[in-house]
Amino acid sequence: MPHDPTPGDNRVALRADCAACAGLCCVAPAFARSSDFPVDKPAGTACHNLLDDFRCGIHDRLRGKGYAGCTVFDCFGAGQQVVQVTFGGRDWRTDPEIATSMFAAFEVLRPVHELRWYLAESLATPAAAPLHHDARALLAETERIAALAPGALAAVDVAAHRATVNEVLLGVGERVRAASPGPRPNRRGADLVGARLGGADLRGANLRGALLIGADLRGADLRSAELIGADLRGADLSGADLSTSLFLTNFQVHGARGDAATRLPSVLDRPAHWPVTSTPRPASPDRRRRRPTGPSL
Ligand code: SF4
Repeated sequence: MPHDPTPGDNRVALRADCAACAGLCCVAPAFARSSDFPVDKPAGTACHNLLDDFRCGIHDRLRGKGYAGCTVFDCFGAGQQVVQVTFGGRDWRTDPEIATSMFAAFEVLRPVHELRWYLAESLATPAAAPLHHDARALLAETERIAALAPGALAAVDVAAHRATVNEVLLGVGERVRAASPGPRPNRRGADLVGARLGGADLRGANLRGALLIGADLRGADLRSAELIGADLRGADLSGADLSTSLFLTNFQVHGARGDAATRLPSVLDRPAHWPVTSTPRPASPDRRRRRPTGPSL
């Protein structure tokens, strides 16, 4: 899909560039046999589907082969950072002696790059302008960390840096939600598994860390809703408007369901497994009441 990001939105540079990586997400992490992966794979061991040129041998059949987890993963550009910057273009196959430290660097930089993503989004959000000075300083510090040598990376306290960044992100969320004309419900961390939220007006909602697994969000209005850490696995976003949702990632979107009518922020990818057609909207409220299947707001 074409991308038309907000001018100055530096999240574009944090999109995964697999051609500049060395298959790190297919080697460094461990996989546990589950609905996301059909096999167990130890950390630091190459997936048996990884080709010699670091492409995936089943890229166009991942879901059919049981590798749905691979279609969801997003490194936020950490892969190309490790290979091209941290290790200057070397790779673990050509230089096996760097494999261990390369995989360790990837595990550190992936969450660091996620923070870069949120800070870049904050800086591209006009409602957060009073916090742009702080966000800019934290982004500079995060970029400094991302440029460290392998040995220094190993000593980074990612949790502490995340806590510092989170203070600013909380403020950004408050400002964005306060500027929303919507009802702004506060469901931070709420258990909304299987919730019936079809057609709901969730503009400006605080859904930080909310469990929305399998929720019916068809046709819901999630503009200016804060979604950092929200679990959207299996949620139905068909026809939903997330065009200005805050802190939404490819990782979340690709784990959800949607259709051609789902509106996403322009910087995100539209999942290839979503249908290219629109699906019917939720039933009327009366009919929904006769089919209780989960909590509502
Ligand atoms: S199945 Fe493909 S994308 Fe998934 S880990 Fe293996 S090589 Fe990588």
